[in-house]
Amino acid sequence: MSVVLVVNSGSSSLKYQLIDMSAERTLASGLIERIGDAQGQGVITHKAGDEKVVREAAVANHDAAFDEMLRNFAEHGPSLDEFPPVAVGHRVVQGGRRFFGPAVVTDKVEQDIEELIPLAPLHNGPNLAGIQGAKHAFGSIPHVAVFDTAFHSTLSDASSLYAIDRAVAEEYRIRRYGAHGTSHKFVAEATAEYLERPIEELKTIVLHVGNGASACAVDGGRSVETSMGMTPLEGLVMGTRSGDIDPAALFHLHRKAGYDIAMLDDLLNRRSGLLGLTGTNDLRDVIARIEAGDEVAETGLEVYVHRLRHYLGSYLVALGGVDVIAWTAGVGENSPEVRARTLRGMEWLGIEIDEARNSERGEGIRVISTDASKVKVLIVPTNEELEIARQTLEATGITA
Ligand code: ADP
Repeated sequence: MSVVLVVNSGSSSLKYQLIDMSAERTLASGLIERIGDAQGQGVITHKAGDEKVVREAAVANHDAAFDEMLRNFAEHGPSLDEFPPVAVGHRVVQGGRRFFGPAVVTDKVEQDIEELIPLAPLHNGPNLAGIQGAKHAFGSIPHVAVFDTAFHSTLSDASSLYAIDRAVAEEYRIRRYGAHGTSHKFVAEATAEYLERPIEELKTIVLHVGNGASACAVDGGRSVETSMGMTPLEGLVMGTRSGDIDPAALFHLHRKAGYDIAMLDDLLNRRSGLLGLTGTNDLRDVIARIEAGDEVAETGLEVYVHRLRHYLGSYLVALGGVDVIAWTAGVGENSPEVRARTLRGMEWLGIEIDEARNSERGEGIRVISTDASKVKVLIVPTNEELEIARQTLEATGITA
């Protein structure tokens, strides 16, 4: 039995999961929040089996977060002596044009991740801090970096170059890298397996719609279009991110209202999307307000859905048809309203939603299209941690 520890290290949080890969079963998971909090109030959650513990402690930095994680395993199990990880898999957001698949961490790999920080300032630094903290805690086993961008390295120039001065773009590495690749890959593969069809034969559109959201067109298992761009800001309307916007709107805000870079960054990344449109970034609240007759909430959801339909239409053309549409992540898995509104009136394309199947709550992969629908529409719960663990074993050559 091979056990893999998966680590997702953000600027102020550390998520982890211990997975038994022989059964692809999660043994424990946890979350350490508010790392580096000025008041020293970190929140630590650990789940093992049916037991969930929450405690508070000061967590000064990522090294300290790993100490807390080890303490969780020692006090609440499972014991790492009994289930010793054979490798650690790390989520890394930006792999640029250097990493087209998982990479066993070496000094050179760490250096490359560091050099890519300017392309993902909010993510690659904390990801690297996580790798370094984990190496202190688990020195003797391999560490593997699994990149969010890697799955999209198959994008053509036509879909990944921006139409700006080529020399400027090359010097500053400005192009579409995409994101959520680990999830899109997992969902596309799980879909093919569920339908018992070879992935090589399938044209799939994956709609990963959560707080962050992106669409991906997958042709024969390869990503050919994706909606996030150089950074995870482009594309769909998200919880707090604007998605697509005319860049000239920013020039205008700068000239007319004195917005500087930090203010624009804050506006587009943290105060836009559903939050900007409606005042709340949680779709459940938006739906509740619509049901109570709130027109601002209704218009906000219309903008949100309009953008989804825009990308869907574009990907139907890019793929030359579609066999499967797969919904995943917080909204995609849980919101019948968004799914129904996005796919309405597409019977002429062979896309037919079954209202009862769409409204029913459920677990696992399930079909929500009618039996007659030419295009199958599925809900496919994503599992990025499992995908990272799989790729970690693949990169190290260790068997499950
Ligand atoms: P992240 O991108 O942070 O991983 P998630 O995929 O967890 O986000 O998605 C979180 C979002 O999913 C929430 O903000 C909420 O809008 C939405 N969501 C979760 N549950 C439901 C539900 N039952 N109905 C509608 N939306 C939901």
